[in-house]
Amino acid sequence: MALTGIQIYKLLPQTNCKECDFPTCLAFAMKLAAKQVELAKCPYVSDESAAQLAEAASPPVRPITIKSNGQEVKGGNEVVLFRHNKRFVSPPGLFIRVYDDMSPDDIKAKVKPVGDYVVDYVGMDLTMGGIAVQARGGDFGAAVAAVKEVTKLPLILIGSPDEIKQGLDKLGKDETPLLCSANADNWEAMAALAKDFDAPLAIEAGNIDDMAALVEKLEGKDLKDFILAPKQRTLLGTLTANTTMRRMALKENFSLLGFPIINFPGDVGDKVKEVSLAMQAIGKYASFIVLDHFDAATAYSLLVLRANLYTDPQEPIQVTPGIYEINNPGPEDPFLVTTNFSITYFSVANEVESMGLPIWLLVTDSEGMSVLTAWAAGKFDAEIIAKDAKRFKADEKVKKKRIVLPGHTAVLSGELEEELPDWEVKVGPKEAVDIPAYLKEAL
Ligand code: SF4
Repeated sequence: MALTGIQIYKLLPQTNCKECDFPTCLAFAMKLAAKQVELAKCPYVSDESAAQLAEAASPPVRPITIKSNGQEVKGGNEVVLFRHNKRFVSPPGLFIRVYDDMSPDDIKAKVKPVGDYVVDYVGMDLTMGGIAVQARGGDFGAAVAAVKEVTKLPLILIGSPDEIKQGLDKLGKDETPLLCSANADNWEAMAALAKDFDAPLAIEAGNIDDMAALVEKLEGKDLKDFILAPKQRTLLGTLTANTTMRRMALKENFSLLGFPIINFPGDVGDKVKEVSLAMQAIGKYASFIVLDHFDAATAYSLLVLRANLYTDPQEPIQVTPGIYEINNPGPEDPFLVTTNFSITYFSVANEVESMGLPIWLLVTDSEGMSVLTAWAAGKFDAEIIAKDAKRFKADEKVKKKRIVLPGHTAVLSGELEEELPDWEVKVGPKEAVDIPAYLKEAL
């Protein structure tokens, strides 16, 4: 598990020779602790220290993957409590739960739309993570088999060791499900199962002390891949449990809690509460989230929330600058111009595309900024627009040269006319939603 800067410093030669390009060994140690430099930059570390320092390279939250037929959900590898400090790394997987006392047809009917669900969000495909199968007095093996008939998504298997074994027997060799859960009563049998099938194991406990004690016992069984499953089910209880465990892993280097977390919003039974819990779980440290209800609108909301939290706040989501053809434009159709911030691009493109209007869309290089931000930062002005229009040969696409500025940058129209004297420069609406009406009425 990760070491602190001071712990690392004690293992360094402490000669301050500067060959690592840092003024002191302590400065190097701090950077190493923050994972901003490679240990290899110091040529004088002893083999013994290097072996201990290898720990510093391991993430404080152990990465765990569950997978099936090439599809996988990864948890862990996180290094910060707050997204603005760096970034969150592993987007949580959303799992829809079925029960083994449901009929195979009902299971398939519930699972199929989950597996088929995919929606494009600013160029990213948003999909569900997988299916959870829970024992409830039915035929667990038959339930898993029914799920496998209609989807290849990864699985979470929830039940007693004997029930889970029935499910595991239905899976192929390349499938790694999550086994759920080891507790104070069954941990030895669950440990044996996890070892036999080389699968990660969820550990259920009601408080931090019990959780750490169970992890320690299971590590004694030569297991390493765990998911922490707090027993709490309320908003406050789950928030407190998740935050405490993650804080202890990241801030205290407490290795017994340095694992991804699973939450069960579906356990509350009420759909509205379930969604509230799921939203909290996405924001506060769950890697695997088990839901009982699935519908496209709720899934979209949760997945967009996830996408927004698990992108790098220092890296705007961008599209490639260039000329985009929307609805097969011809030489008589106009150019719209916008920036290469993904959300700006897709706002414009989606409005025009959905109305079936043919246009050319010139996307300038604004370093991923939205229109007003780019304009204020000097990344979206008449000179840049004209330069990109020429760079991408816009004039070769059309006979009737018309270019439409975003309404918020009307002030650029005079300068753009000077930069592009052959073009008719127009000012469009301020909001993307008004573009279709503008195109129909004004052009
Ligand atoms: Fe210290 Fe090694 Fe850097 Fe020299 S190269 S200053 S010994 S960390």
